[in-house]
Amino acid sequence: MRLGLFGGTFDPIHVGHLILAEQCREACSLDQVWFVVANEPPHKRGLKRTAVHHRLEMARLGVAGNPGFAVSEIEAERTGPSYSVDTLAQIRAERPGDELFFLIGGDSLVDLPTWREPERIASMASIVVVNRPGAEAEIPDLGPDARPFEFVTIPPIGVSSSDLRSRLAEGRSIRYMVPSAVGAYIEAHGLYRTPPPPTA
Ligand code: ATP
Repeated sequence: MRLGLFGGTFDPIHVGHLILAEQCREACSLDQVWFVVANEPPHKRGLKRTAVHHRLEMARLGVAGNPGFAVSEIEAERTGPSYSVDTLAQIRAERPGDELFFLIGGDSLVDLPTWREPERIASMASIVVVNRPGAEAEIPDLGPDARPFEFVTIPPIGVSSSDLRSRLAEGRSIRYMVPSAVGAYIEAHGLYRTPPPPTA
């Protein structure tokens, strides 16, 4: 099948992720898009992250109801940094008949040349780049074996997980920026709240 792989920290999943994935699914005629939740994103090391089981559960709630979407635990189950090249190699070995598409936002394209073995990533999957406000990148030269890049344009969505985390820490609303079930999960588990200030 034509399989889209969409990696991220998903801390938390939001409408930008879902719209990106759905538009790529349609534009590239993908049979499935797997949301691959990174255990330890190499480019965000040292930053605090929500426990992976919460991020996985929010991703599951976010994709629920779309038969073209699923959540992959492949990186959550692996210890150490979640290198995309390892993930792609594993999926290719397990599913030799599949054609792989690697979905990224424009800000990730900027970073891609600094990732581990970007040439190998581009040789194993077609990289599908989606516009993101504030991110303009040159198309990197990823060597002779790179598959051609594909580009999908979506209505620009200025939602980011970091902005959502700030809003929640300030007690502001994120309604409609995440699926309602994700918002309810965040609320129920008290995620992204700053600890109350010490009382005198
Ligand atoms: P943070 O703000 O914490 O960095 P994020 O919102 O960028 O998080 P990630 O989980 O790091 O979310 O992103 C996963 C992928 O989704 C990346 O390839 C990123 O470029 C893409 N992406 C996230 N939000 C958007 C958006 N609003 N528009 C386009 N692409 C997006």
